[in-house]
Amino acid sequence: MPPCERSGWSRFAVALKKLSTYRKKRDFGKTAEPSGEVKVAPARQRRFVIQKHDATRLHYDLRLEFDGVFKSWAVTRGPSLDPHDKRLAVEVEDHPLDYGDFEGTIPKGQYGGGTVQMWDRGYWEIEGPRTAQEGLKKGDLKFTLHGSKLKGSWALVRMKRREFDKRDNWLLIKHRDEHAVDAQGDAILAEDKSVASGRALDEIAAGKGRKPKPFMLAKEGKADAVWNSNHAFDVDPKANGKDKKEKKAVEAPLRGKVVDSMPDFIEPELV
Ligand code: MN
Repeated sequence: MPPCERSGWSRFAVALKKLSTYRKKRDFGKTAEPSGEVKVAPARQRRFVIQKHDATRLHYDLRLEFDGVFKSWAVTRGPSLDPHDKRLAVEVEDHPLDYGDFEGTIPKGQYGGGTVQMWDRGYWEIEGPRTAQEGLKKGDLKFTLHGSKLKGSWALVRMKRREFDKRDNWLLIKHRDEHAVDAQGDAILAEDKSVASGRALDEIAAGKGRKPKPFMLAKEGKADAVWNSNHAFDVDPKANGKDKKEKKAVEAPLRGKVVDSMPDFIEPELV
């Protein structure tokens, strides 16, 4: 076996091990969700997806590609473009990369039963001097999203675990930049439309309309065609220098900010 192939398979084995919780919770004879056994080719840039999940309580699942899996958070009220809003993001089990193509219905009675819509997707990159691994470990992740709906600079900040917490609670906060707004930060949630199929939640639930266009399992070359090494497909390369300067200036006030309050929250079904 050539060395490159071997390293690909060992990376895959490590990813599968991280997915044991995900796999234990699901009966793949009953749900159409991916089991994580499909090998997804690594991208040159980390991918992200946000799935709108109409489960017991509607929420948005943010998934960031990270060492062969999707690190996942259930954002209970959905992301807000207003930097004043701190949105609770409950860390859930790692998900397989091919989950990033899943749009459909999880049968009632199964774990996470409900309809899943591909609400946003694209690429993400870490900001600042820390690596993504260090940021995750420290509980302070600053990153840029290059999605169809969400763009610009964001932070995920882990809160201290309280005695009764079963999971790690994080806060998802928009950094101030040209993509931030000062009011009605959740207006972005109003449009009920899949970025993969154009379908509304009820069309997906009814199994009608267009099939979702794959992203994670898109044919090689096609995915690369929208990505060029260091900028996202939808960023004007000519504006790049200006963007960087602006980003630095707006990020500063958020540094060192202590997050000690919990937003009002009733433990929902998060999966
Ligand atoms: Mn969910």
